[in-house]
Amino acid sequence: MSKKVAVVTGANKGIGLAIVRELCKAKFTGDVILTARNEKLGNEAVKMLKSEGFEVAYHHLDLCDQGSAKQLSNFLQKTYGGLDVLINNAGMAFKNDATEPFGEQAEVTMRTNFWGTLWVCHALLPLLRPNARVVNVSSFVSKKALDTCSPQLQAKFRDTELSEEELCLLMGQFVIAAQQGNHQAQGWPNTAYGTTKIGVTVLSRIQAHILTKTRAADGILLNACCPGWVRTDMAGPKALKSPEEGAQTPIYLALLPEGAKEPHGQLVWDKTVQEW
Ligand code: NDP
Repeated sequence: MSKKVAVVTGANKGIGLAIVRELCKAKFTGDVILTARNEKLGNEAVKMLKSEGFEVAYHHLDLCDQGSAKQLSNFLQKTYGGLDVLINNAGMAFKNDATEPFGEQAEVTMRTNFWGTLWVCHALLPLLRPNARVVNVSSFVSKKALDTCSPQLQAKFRDTELSEEELCLLMGQFVIAAQQGNHQAQGWPNTAYGTTKIGVTVLSRIQAHILTKTRAADGILLNACCPGWVRTDMAGPKALKSPEEGAQTPIYLALLPEGAKEPHGQLVWDKTVQEW
């Protein structure tokens, strides 16, 4: 059988880097691929991990470039013939004091966090081998944002029959409303980041549902998670958790033992399934 392989996105720093380190520490029985959009930063991170005694390889991946996800898919297919663990960690958020108009923030944040994650999934999920694990790093902020949506939007995002196409349409509608300045009048929350993470959490439920329907016998588990409030460039130094602590829930989900039936399609925080 081919060697196992795990891929972590946005892993040159922050929680992604910690996830790669923790995967190595947990003695993941295969190769660990650290991906980053910036080759120099990616290779520097690999060099640092190697100096700590961990064997890791770099591969380029920019979420906003569909071609780069396709190239990674080709590489994995050719080198490993499949994929065993995918951790979609890469993400971005504007700072609270950002001066870009809200519509622009919504478009840029959505492109990375939602569309980028979706494109990576479209490129890599077809490679998943039996017993694969997929972890989409979302946020507790997705639940907070959901709670401030209009009752109609909340019902849509909680509808277990919502399709990927319908979710994409909703995410697009949010960006248009944000650009027109009437997103709140249309029942959307006043947070670009939070809305993109609603997208990631709901996408995870939909993808899990599809895997259950199409690959019932393969034992694949796919979940969204929140790492907690973590001290990184994104969240700042006052956050409560270290990157290593933030990596624990993603690692737990990535290493769910063979034969485990759950969680699947859930939002998991502190290793605990959250009500959506
Ligand atoms: P950081 O800002 O420290 O790291 C983000 C990582 O994502 C970086 O490696 C960054 O690369 C990468 N990235 C951003 N855009 C792209 C792109 N287009 N293509 C590829 N990589 C990209 O943030 P965190 O480590 O804190 O965040 C990691 C994940 O955890 C995110 O999804 C975030 O939303 C989530 N999260 C974080 C929380 C926290 O408290 N920190 C709380 C809840 C969720 P580059 O260095 O090139 O910018």
